[in-house]
Amino acid sequence: MLQKVNGQTYYCPGPTNIGVVRYKNGMALLVDAGIDSTAGRGLAQALEAEGLKPKYLILTHAHPDHFGAAKWLKEQYTGLLRYASGEEAMYMKYHRLESEALYGASPLRELEGRFLKGPAIEVENFLKPGVVELGEKRFQIIALPGHTFHQIGVLTGDGVLFAGDSLFSEAIMEKYAFPFLLDVEAELQTLKNLEELEVQAVVLSHGKEPYSSIKELCAKNRERIEEYLEMIGDGCNQPLTREDVTEQILLAAGTEADIPGYHMAFATAGAFLSYLANRHELEKSIVGGKCYFYKE
Ligand SMILES: [Zn+2]
Repeated sequence: MLQKVNGQTYYCPGPTNIGVVRYKNGMALLVDAGIDSTAGRGLAQALEAEGLKPKYLILTHAHPDHFGAAKWLKEQYTGLLRYASGEEAMYMKYHRLESEALYGASPLRELEGRFLKGPAIEVENFLKPGVVELGEKRFQIIALPGHTFHQIGVLTGDGVLFAGDSLFSEAIMEKYAFPFLLDVEAELQTLKNLEELEVQAVVLSHGKEPYSSIKELCAKNRERIEEYLEMIGDGCNQPLTREDVTEQILLAAGTEADIPGYHMAFATAGAFLSYLANRHELEKSIVGGKCYFYKE
């Protein structure tokens, strides 16, 4: 069932919350699609109950739980116009790229299995940050890099921001302990930008209720990143490899990772290490076939 957020802006709650903006003529704009055809069917039912048909679909980023149902929706609703940032669209069109990038080579089967869940989809319209006019409505596209390199958020005319995975709710931070990040510097800047944004409400892709203010949540997300930076920085008082840091992250999270989980932690460890090393807070050198990071 659709939940009203403000004005003509709604969302369809689920494992991935889907943004819905109602147009006068019974058309709708969607923000994200959900993970698979089952999620797509649930969304279609919720839309039909309100007499809505999607005409526009904006995908925030190329993770399967966000774009996996896009192909199914496209088949159900002919003429559905798809939008994303050009870079994320590449990952949706060539969907093996995600596991290839995560592994850095021909990926392990377990990684393919996880990330090929999102069937490839051609997104023909590329969005850049700024104002976009779709039908009679205007939307502000907000750059939200950090969790992925080219994630975007959508701010509707009703002042509702669909923030994708740029922010993690308190519950998600508790459940997963470490935030999946590809670019720490970009994420810190994204948090700063989000704090300054004047909005009526914010809907996270994974969260129970819309937020009326995200200042506190931004601060909590930043604190979490700073905790990890400190932990990794302290760890590097003696030389550590990226695998050591991955172990540190997984032990701090207290969870037994599977193959995909390990590689997501490995990617995040890499993001923290490149952030620290590129700011000259860590040195690095190759000794005995290992790449060590350490404090001078
Ligand atoms: Zn994501």
